[in-house]
Amino acid sequence: MWSLTAIPEIGLDRLVMSDGPIGVRGEQWSSADPSIALPSPTALAATWDTGLVRQVGRLLAQEARRKGVHVLLAPTINLHRSPLGGRHFECFSEDPLLTGELGAAYVEGVQEGGVATTPKHFVANDFETDRFTVNVKVTDKVLREVYLRPFERVTKAGAWGMMTAYNSVNGPTMTEHTDLVNGVLKDEWGFDGYVVSDWTAVRSTEAAALGGTDVAMPGPNGPWGDKLEEAVREGRVAESVIDDKVRRVLRLASRTGALGGGRKEHAEIDGIALAREVAARSFTLLKNDGVLPFDGVNSIALIGSAAAEARIMGGGSAQVFPDRTVSPLEGLRERSAEVTYALGTDPRLRLAPVAADTRALFLDADGEVLAEHPLPVTEARWVGQAPSDVDVERLAAVEIRASYTAETAGEHQFSIAGVGRYTLTAGGETIFDDDIVPAGDDPAVAFLHAPEKRFPLTLNEGQTVELSLRQHSVASFNGMVLIMFTLGHANPTAGEDELIAEAVRVAAASDVAVVVASTTLEVESEGFDRKDLKLPGRQDELIAAVAAANPRTIVVVNAGSPVEMPWASEVAAVLLTWFPGQEAGLALADVLYGDAEPGGRLPTTWPVRLEDSPVVDVTPVDGAVAYDEGVFIGYRGWEKAGRTPAYWFGHGLGYTTWSYDALEASATSATVSVTNTGTRRGREVVQVYLTPADGVTRLAGFDVVEAGPGETVVTTVFLAERDFQEWGASGWQTVTGEYTVEAGRNYADRPLATTVKL
Ligand code: BGC
Repeated sequence: MWSLTAIPEIGLDRLVMSDGPIGVRGEQWSSADPSIALPSPTALAATWDTGLVRQVGRLLAQEARRKGVHVLLAPTINLHRSPLGGRHFECFSEDPLLTGELGAAYVEGVQEGGVATTPKHFVANDFETDRFTVNVKVTDKVLREVYLRPFERVTKAGAWGMMTAYNSVNGPTMTEHTDLVNGVLKDEWGFDGYVVSDWTAVRSTEAAALGGTDVAMPGPNGPWGDKLEEAVREGRVAESVIDDKVRRVLRLASRTGALGGGRKEHAEIDGIALAREVAARSFTLLKNDGVLPFDGVNSIALIGSAAAEARIMGGGSAQVFPDRTVSPLEGLRERSAEVTYALGTDPRLRLAPVAADTRALFLDADGEVLAEHPLPVTEARWVGQAPSDVDVERLAAVEIRASYTAETAGEHQFSIAGVGRYTLTAGGETIFDDDIVPAGDDPAVAFLHAPEKRFPLTLNEGQTVELSLRQHSVASFNGMVLIMFTLGHANPTAGEDELIAEAVRVAAASDVAVVVASTTLEVESEGFDRKDLKLPGRQDELIAAVAAANPRTIVVVNAGSPVEMPWASEVAAVLLTWFPGQEAGLALADVLYGDAEPGGRLPTTWPVRLEDSPVVDVTPVDGAVAYDEGVFIGYRGWEKAGRTPAYWFGHGLGYTTWSYDALEASATSATVSVTNTGTRRGREVVQVYLTPADGVTRLAGFDVVEAGPGETVVTTVFLAERDFQEWGASGWQTVTGEYTVEAGRNYADRPLATTVKL
């Protein structure tokens, strides 16, 4: 599932791969093998800081080395074509240049540490619906100028790998796309790394082998292996084609220390400190009437389910398992103000696993224990491979056991989330013993978003109950085990109306109210797209009610991608914390109290309503999605339609103010000077936009600058030749004429302008 076989005779070790991009999960899909969980890519992108992203890359390399991983399956550099994209949170931005620059910094940082990157998913994998089969119809011009641009940039940065997408582009599926993989990536761009398929994406022997795919994952029981050998023997695939793949894999092994030479060692980076710093630097303050940073705040009403249990990451293959997470409640309780918590409303559709010492028992058909592993929560996840001490041949069932002590009296809810046959017992009594069948046919959805069954259980305060959940028969796919089930729990709660009323009471009695609103696992994940941009459940109603009770209401939006905010004009401040990673709560306290400035700027335009966005439909018609909007995604699309979003691309407030003083530009650079006009030290993301005569305005460069009060800083942003080119019938062509160069705070606020002639 996650490795290529060792060949000791030639000194080749196993080459181990792991998903990213927010951490290095390693070979286990399990909380038994914890990893640092960094903020998600939209958050990373909100920092606009290539230096910081490079440092993140170095930390990821350190994590990879610690876990014996040679190859990271990251970064994800598809684009925010539509806010409905299920993996929007896992991609950087709507802008190809910003995505490419951050992708390049990520690649360089990880690879400096001797670990390979695998930017993905090449190409046009910008939505999830029917992702295995959909054909994306897109013109060469749009591919080149928009969707391929980040891939071209990371290739230039020297990426050692590339993952092809599940989807087709203009006909051929990407694992067989000789024009784009052999033609553009390998021949034209000179990519010398390895090309791996997305998992299970290879469906043919010859076509994929000839189409440029070098490694078909997972293996070896797919359409390659023996079948590919046969194709070579029969002359259907030339031996030289295999030689090239072998050379690429050996080069990868040699680069990552798997072919002798050992692994690189580097100065230790403090992962927890970096996770906290990146989170604070990514938090994006959309609106602030002066309530932030806190000044003289003695009591805080902290409201929302995500305040007690932060949503630190999105769903799907990007998941990792940190060994600690800090919620906003924990983070704020470390400070001096009195914090009163109220749930308000709970939008989650699924119960969380029980945080209790758990044992996972691996059993054979006679119930004999083959191995036992401790887990921090009641969730069993081993994807592809079981722990190494489990004899998979004999493995027949997996059982998790934990004891739970009720903190409150009343009707508790317990749940099973999983696919297959289960037995749940509580206090020795069988509560459920039956099959649970999946909905739909996407295997990722079936396992990552398995159906949930709930069971009420009345407990006294302090009562301890022994729980066990056994999965009979272990699912496997091409010889790889798939163990994924959860025993969930929720405390007794008052009815929703009473929860909202209590939140309002608490808010009215506190100096400030902080509502943490979030999306759920059912909203933002790999495997499916979003249906709308509404905050799930009754959160909008909760926020409006709290804002009416306390004018100093701050809404913290804990979501990886845009949500509609119908209450925005009624609240004092809106702070996006994205999916903030494991140190969520500490970073939030840092920013609310002003120890850190919210450094984020929007990497994606934020709509008032979904319908205003340039692309609002990602459902294939007759198996195809046409990128008919052309280059007009993101701010380009908003501008063309003449619509005004809630907040433009690039927007974000700090705790100081800046004046834009002077701009000079040539065809290769723009020099901007800005002055910190406020009273505290701060950072500003200086953005440079370029508009050809009669052309479309686009981001051409950016830099993060820092200055104390009254200080002026000058930065020079380099402009690339590509910024002045368009894709035409004969390839890239430089468009001569006059260009307007502008510098500013966001797409719609560009106070400085000059022109250059080409
Ligand atoms: C995802 C990839 C991921 C792979 C392995 C696929 O479903 O699309 O991004 O790297 O699984 O987990």
